[in-house]
Amino acid sequence: MADTENRPTNFIRNIIDGDLASGKHASTHTRFPPEPNGFLHIGHAKSICLNFGIAQDYKGLCNLRFDDTNPEKEDIDYVNSIQEDVKWLGFEWDGEICYSSNYFDKLYGYAVELIEKGLAYVCFLSPEQAREYRGTLTEPGKNSPHRDTSPEENLALFEKMKNGEFKEGECVLRAKIDMASSFMVLRDPIIYRIRFVHHHQTGDKWCIYPMYDFTHCISDALEGITHSLCTLEFQDNRRLYDWVLENISIECQPQQIEFSRLNLEYTVMSKRKLNDLVVNGQVEGWDDPRMPTIAGLRRRGYTPASIREFCKRIGITKQDNMVEMGMLEACIRDDLNENAPRAMAVLDPVKIVIENYDADKVEMLSAPNHPTLEMGERELPLTREIFIEREDFRVEANKKFKRLVLGKEVRLRNAYVIKAERIEEDDAGNITTIYCTYDADTLGKNPADGRKVKGVIHWVSASHCIEAEVRQYDRLFNVPNPAAAEDFATTLNPESLVVIANAKLEPSLEKASPEQGFQFERLGYYSRDNKSQSLTFNQTVGLRDSWAKIEKA
Ligand code: ATP
Ligand code: MG
Repeated sequence: MADTENRPTNFIRNIIDGDLASGKHASTHTRFPPEPNGFLHIGHAKSICLNFGIAQDYKGLCNLRFDDTNPEKEDIDYVNSIQEDVKWLGFEWDGEICYSSNYFDKLYGYAVELIEKGLAYVCFLSPEQAREYRGTLTEPGKNSPHRDTSPEENLALFEKMKNGEFKEGECVLRAKIDMASSFMVLRDPIIYRIRFVHHHQTGDKWCIYPMYDFTHCISDALEGITHSLCTLEFQDNRRLYDWVLENISIECQPQQIEFSRLNLEYTVMSKRKLNDLVVNGQVEGWDDPRMPTIAGLRRRGYTPASIREFCKRIGITKQDNMVEMGMLEACIRDDLNENAPRAMAVLDPVKIVIENYDADKVEMLSAPNHPTLEMGERELPLTREIFIEREDFRVEANKKFKRLVLGKEVRLRNAYVIKAERIEEDDAGNITTIYCTYDADTLGKNPADGRKVKGVIHWVSASHCIEAEVRQYDRLFNVPNPAAAEDFATTLNPESLVVIANAKLEPSLEKASPEQGFQFERLGYYSRDNKSQSLTFNQTVGLRDSWAKIEKA
């Protein structure tokens, strides 16, 4: 339970504080209402943290409700992944999972009530006609010729709709509100349509399905929701939300409050677009580590705490904006800097032979798992042949290059000082081996060797290292706002994934558990892939913010 001091403040919490103080509500009841038509993304995390966070801080309740009124686009796999993601983020819903489809009988009853009151009618206009009758933002609409059918006739027609006696698209049930309203959503909106499709929860029981606007407010009211928090695009729909609840026999009147969606640079957040990437094979799946989905971020190495922290930092407002990717990355970097053990890995190896080191000697050096925090130690085998990063060696270099240079010294991290004596090249002039000598008196953190060794580089034993696949990731799109492009797929970054098949890792990493994060020293943060059978690491984030550089380029 968060203490009061650490609670976020925002305009929604201010409203709740007021409602509790005035006695309008004795406690809070929120809900997170995803449509099971895709995996959850980081934008949903914002809504999850808001809704479940309020329940935690105010000792209230929060439901998980599947808004499942669109059976053709929905799938039980999505239902499952959503539950998994909410739990992984660290939240628990109140009681059983709710489904809007649980209320289909009641919703039908409320539709009948509206018909009986002369507030809903079955309309036979074709979609084209209906569009024409609807009018525009500047012109009022026209009444449908079916608007004044008697309640008795409408009841019979609606019954027939339910019994499958009409074809799909032949007619709809509309609320009778106001064809001249300045709110388009109030111009006799459709509340029921015919769909002969199987539903993942209700099977073939129904061939008519309620529309979102009709379903959502009633579901909220049936569950006793006090504050129905949704994103800004539903601002106008609030009129319909309130109209429905005012015109049916239901007591609870939840208050709808809108906040701005999260938009994140260099990615897309619409489930339709994310689905396109999956279907067209532009990513490996919904949980591809480049995806902004919760499952993708998880596989990439993000922790639940880092995502919750991100949601806290971005806050809740009514202002539409674009959040920089650097902000999300800073959250996981801060988390892993503190919590991830250190390890050594060489991604682009070049061999070193330490000529004065015995060929069959294996020295077990111990290395701290964290530079400042108590996190224990691990053993590092040192042998005559080791690998270092190819870019950590130069034949010649100026003083700024604090790594290994021919004829000069460098310290091997957690080990000795070595000196590069000579090199061997292949016919093409590529360095194949660097021959070095080491100084046996230089082991330890603060050796009393008095030597001014400029740099420290990472390494692994050539004979005792393990091999692993390491996946290096870059932004998935080349432009800050891919959604604004005519065809967002053309803005994909073709270099968003680089696979290093045989990276050389220190042997302790063999025991890494799936999703465990490490700092590969001097390289960045990596996490063991949770899907691959073999040893695979995903790059989570670099050691420094590389986005600032991209903006300026
Ligand atoms: P999409 O447009 O990606 O399909 P959606 O809004 O249709 O998203 P839902 O499954 O209906 O997705 O969303 C469930 C809840 O999450 C809703 O309350 C919605 O307002 C909220 N939500 C969705 N996307 C975002 C976002 N980018 N930022 C904040 N909240 C979001
Ligand atoms: Mg939606």
